[in-house]
Amino acid sequence: MSFTFDHVTLGQRVLFGTGAAADNAVAAVEELGARRILLVHDAFAVALADAIAERAPVVRRIDEIVQHVPVENAERATAVAAAADVDAIVAIGGGSVTGLAKAVALRTGAPIVAIPTTFAGSEATDVWGMTKGQRKTTGVDPRVLPKVVVYDAALSAGLPTTLAVASGLNAVAHAVDGFWAPRADPINRALGTEGLRALFPGLRGLIADPGDLDAREQTLYGAYLAAVAFASAGSGLHHKICHTLGGAYNLPHAETHAIVLPYVTAFNAPFAPDAAERIQELLGVPNAAAGLDALRAELGAPASLAAIGLKESDIRRAAELALPAVPPSNPRPVTVSDLEGIMRAAWVGEQIV
Ligand code: NAD
Repeated sequence: MSFTFDHVTLGQRVLFGTGAAADNAVAAVEELGARRILLVHDAFAVALADAIAERAPVVRRIDEIVQHVPVENAERATAVAAAADVDAIVAIGGGSVTGLAKAVALRTGAPIVAIPTTFAGSEATDVWGMTKGQRKTTGVDPRVLPKVVVYDAALSAGLPTTLAVASGLNAVAHAVDGFWAPRADPINRALGTEGLRALFPGLRGLIADPGDLDAREQTLYGAYLAAVAFASAGSGLHHKICHTLGGAYNLPHAETHAIVLPYVTAFNAPFAPDAAERIQELLGVPNAAAGLDALRAELGAPASLAAIGLKESDIRRAAELALPAVPPSNPRPVTVSDLEGIMRAAWVGEQIV
């Protein structure tokens, strides 16, 4: 590992407090001086949205949320925001809600207060994404980085366990992929390692007892650290594969990450011994990829890309589509056959030993 590096950690305020989401959100918008707020929220978050709207100057609400932010939804929401002259956006929900808020912020410049309800981590990044037809476009813009993040572990309590697990493994993927991503450096590796140190026991605790708020806090805290590491290190091989699969074949985001990660780890680990050692040490196993696969199985996440709807006949094309996106800095050189091999193993759900 080289100690010559150029590191950026994105700046934002984080308010962490279980049961305090409404108070913290109201305090955050007051401090921003917001007078005309757009409230974007998922349908399940009506009660919290109402509680905030009672105490903050909300002028419009949007609760039509679609995963991967279709351009038409982004344009509609932006038009609503512009017509109402909003000066801040409060977003309550998972990555799809944060994504819609980012699309509005991108065009209006209104600051976002994000109140995440999954472990997706979009709130920690300056990356936006939108889809038009089958194509997902992403970009980086400082305007979309939420100014304030309000974390409340109680908000994820309604998340079905299967989704919570997949979302938590998506967070694990942020940390692991960050170990070998293009801008990986000692600081974001440290953040990712600490993220995993919280995520592994947090996710196990959450499965053992879905009502365990301490475990939810650990998972949320770990997910944030992992997302900060990812935002700093950039997208590695794993994310490039998952984005190709998600965008071209409309596979569910978090589940795709949960399934693919052990296979990318098996591929890269021999060329990334430092990353493998960190994972092995934290999981207490001799093989990082096998350990991540066993964790996925233990948590009950889906086992194969076949199980979430990818057709075998799509694998070759998916590998060809992913190849141009593979970072040249990946620790191991990658060919289209390598990508096909990774995707095929993940499609079958091959056991890693
Ligand atoms: P999501 O926001 O689509 O939520 C998944 C489902 O869970 C939805 O049906 C939602 O209504 C429900 N849900 C969410 N929280 C809930 C809760 N607390 N209780 C009950 N139901 C709840 O899924 P996600 O995995 O959070 O986000 C995925 C999206 O985020 C993708 O579009 C992905 O590309 C994007 N993303 C972007 C970044 C980034 O940096 N830009 C990072 C991670 C994810």
